[in-house]
Amino acid sequence: MSGNKSSVAVIGAGLGGLASALRFLAKGYDVTLYDALDTPGGRAVVFEREGHVFDAGPTVVTAPYLIDELFALFGQRREDHVTFMPVDPFYRVEFTDGSTFDYVGEEERILAQIEKLSPRDVEGYKKLADHSRRIFDKGYTELADVPFEGLADMFRVAPDMIKLENYRTVYGLVSKYIQDERLRQVFTFQPLLVGGSPFRTSSIYMLIHWLERKWGVWFAQGGTGAIVRALVELFQQHGGTLRLSTPIRTIDVDNGAVQGIVTEQGERVAHDVVVANADPSMVYRHMIGREHRRKNTDRKVGRVKNSMSLFVTYFGTDKLYDDIAHHTIVLGPRYKGLLDDIFKRRVLADDFSLYLHRPTASDRSLAPAGRETFYVLSPVPNQLSDIDWDKMAPIYQDRILTHLEERMMPGLREHLTCAFSVDPRYFQNDLRSADGAAFGPEPLLTQSASFRYQNKSPDVAGLFFVGAGTHPGAGMPGVISSAKVVDRYIDAVGEVPRAQSPAATWKGAA
Ligand SMILES: Cc1cc2nc3c(=O)[nH]c(=O)nc-3n(C[C@H](O)[C@H](O)[C@H](O)COP(=O)(O)OP(=O)(O)OC[C@H]3O[C@@H](n4cnc5c(N)ncnc54)[C@H](O)[C@@H]3O)c2cc1C
Repeated sequence: MSGNKSSVAVIGAGLGGLASALRFLAKGYDVTLYDALDTPGGRAVVFEREGHVFDAGPTVVTAPYLIDELFALFGQRREDHVTFMPVDPFYRVEFTDGSTFDYVGEEERILAQIEKLSPRDVEGYKKLADHSRRIFDKGYTELADVPFEGLADMFRVAPDMIKLENYRTVYGLVSKYIQDERLRQVFTFQPLLVGGSPFRTSSIYMLIHWLERKWGVWFAQGGTGAIVRALVELFQQHGGTLRLSTPIRTIDVDNGAVQGIVTEQGERVAHDVVVANADPSMVYRHMIGREHRRKNTDRKVGRVKNSMSLFVTYFGTDKLYDDIAHHTIVLGPRYKGLLDDIFKRRVLADDFSLYLHRPTASDRSLAPAGRETFYVLSPVPNQLSDIDWDKMAPIYQDRILTHLEERMMPGLREHLTCAFSVDPRYFQNDLRSADGAAFGPEPLLTQSASFRYQNKSPDVAGLFFVGAGTHPGAGMPGVISSAKVVDRYIDAVGEVPRAQSPAATWKGAA
């Protein structure tokens, strides 16, 4: 305790941890935000090489009002700190047959694209869009930021989930309405952005489609790193304490309640509340003694299926590639087969489907004059595979760059200014994620809502979870919403005026 304020430790300065730290601060708590790394942001850290600024992770900003809300807690306007720029098209999808699809927000423009590729699917898309709106109204508007604790909560929502056909997979639902295989891919790749295979994950994730249409796709000027910097500044300006390079080894528990934390350096700090933004599997298994865990036993944690991992190559060029969109999905020859290689067989395939990020399409300040900044991301199996990344990483990087050069970036190899990669070892070792997963537990129906790690620990009083591993799940909207869920459990210390949500001021295209 410091003074007479209740003291909170937030373990992890990812976006979920930052959002939660701000919410506790706004309620009058004394908040210390710890991170093992020497820079905040978690998966949203920034790498800088040769004058190029690389967002390491998230690039697609959706549901921007969630970030506005954090500033509004302190009576501030996000736009005075970070500028959001619309991205158009949201994504360009490139198929192996040479055709492309510009995935956009306005219905008329989407319909025109569908008409061009597969006229018979126009009516089906309208029905699919309406279905995804209904899923969004239930799964996002009503449930994304409310606590899920036990089976009773699941039974409460089960009838709606059945009505909305959430027992189907994303691919299953889309296939009900859309016949063209290319269009099926266009409307099913989105769960991959939160760690799920469209062939395994529940159609509840079709809400992403409506979320993108409703509020648009945005890019922060200066990159996602600018959002992290602004949130950290807000936190520190309002008295929050940020302790970087401070890995937490143990959460101290006595008599079933949190007492504080112990750092890896051996420092013991008393706190009344602990919010873990670290992977819950790692927290339960390695940071809390077995005697304090009746529910989240080693056996239960061991049964969690973790998401896939990623191989991400960051590179700069001294040639401009003006015709490449900001976000491009570069699909390979196989879709289901490749996803089965990643999620089921856990082998490194010879082919790949890629996401290519060109932030300099929207913001030239992210590269020196006359240069471009890129990253290219390939979903790969997590560390439960036998892939020897010490050996494979340079080979795989080379294969991806060659593929890009041959397919869409002529002269790439001779115009590289730098290139480096992260792979599952980064997620496992640097970000301390179980099995080197890039998105925490896989978003399966059996690992969603009450079946995901709960935001309020059922084992330890005063322990809460935010971030990708807990409800509602991975992705910036998910992890920022998880901080809202925890907020609902917390009483203010003293009088704190509640800010109005700026959600209503955002107008999307839908
Ligand atoms: C390459 C990539 C691209 C992505 N693209 C998008 C996108 O475009 N749009 C989108 O919405 N989402 C995207 N995502 C998903 C999104 O980035 C993540 O789901 C989200 O950022 C995770 O936030 P988090 O709150 O779970 O924290 P994390 O970012 O996982 O941070 C957790 C923090 O906890 C710290 N930590 C862990 N253990 C300890 C410990 N013992 N002691 C102290 N600190 C500890 C870690 O160092 C880390 O900083 C992407 C993810 C990746 C990897």
